[in-house]
Amino acid sequence: MSLSRRQLLTSAALLLASPRGAFAATTARPGGATAEPTAEHPFLMHWNENPYGPSPAAREAIAAAIARTHRYVPFDEEDALLDLLASREGVSRQQIVTGTGSGEVLRALGLWAAREGGEVIAADPTYDDLVEYARMHGARVVSVPLDKSFKHDLDAMLAAVNDKTRIVYLCNPHNPTGTAHSVGRLSLFLEALPPHVTAVVDEAYLEFASAAGVRSVAPLVRTGLNLVVLRTFSKIHGMAGVRLGYAIAPEKLAKAFAPLRMTWLNVFAPVAARASLGDAEYLSATRRRIQADRARITNELTRLGMRYADPQGNFVFFDTGMPLD
Ligand code: PLP
Repeated sequence: MSLSRRQLLTSAALLLASPRGAFAATTARPGGATAEPTAEHPFLMHWNENPYGPSPAAREAIAAAIARTHRYVPFDEEDALLDLLASREGVSRQQIVTGTGSGEVLRALGLWAAREGGEVIAADPTYDDLVEYARMHGARVVSVPLDKSFKHDLDAMLAAVNDKTRIVYLCNPHNPTGTAHSVGRLSLFLEALPPHVTAVVDEAYLEFASAAGVRSVAPLVRTGLNLVVLRTFSKIHGMAGVRLGYAIAPEKLAKAFAPLRMTWLNVFAPVAARASLGDAEYLSATRRRIQADRARITNELTRLGMRYADPQGNFVFFDTGMPLD
């Protein structure tokens, strides 16, 4: 399916079923809207939350951590989390950089990219934490339109690389369109980038993907590629309010951007994350529920004759036929 640029601008994203009814999902940024649905604003059109929330194990861990809230830094819990993440990703602890949400890590990367007149290449439209932070700190941002099927135009992004390019940023699946490239196609792109360019692949929605071949590129970090992969506990783990995400990066690069973070973990994040990672059954059930919600929505859109981009995240980007604002 393809939509014109004008249609893209008049398209919106959409709706996942939740225990309280249908919640809308996103375009790129919250933009000052309310956090909870109200009678006046029953649909939230921009957060891409997981309405099913954290696993029972994570809820218990959060409740138990209340007793430690008089402490500043949960060093022991942070260490345990770093060990767990490193062993799951098959990298060293020094290659994991946590943040107050993956948003914080993206902003640290944006800041790092902006130094000494660096340039950033990203899709248009895209999730903009890294891009806007880099721009705010003096980076030149090169925006590359999505292709006709609302996927990253990887050939055009590669062609946009120059001597000053510091970061190429991609979301896979993409926000706001939900489309995804296969690991094979993405690997070819990543391997074709020159060594002075760092690729940042944001996999916030990867666990919701169902298309053949859509998998993580994180194993490529181990092959020595100049690649940073981002993950979050806000989506499949249903813990957006806990604020935890992390990057998997080459050690040298991790050392360069980790000091640019501005916060440290709260007492709930590491314990909730470990508990959630241990509850594989709940995570699989959530994945199945959200994929089923997504199919219900696309079936309905098809029935109504409304066009949509191939959704691989927890939201659906479709043409409402109305302006966005
Ligand atoms: N990356 C993408 C593509 C997102 O859509 C979001 C949030 O919606 C984030 C990163 C940030 O997630 P968080 O800061 O909650 O980890």
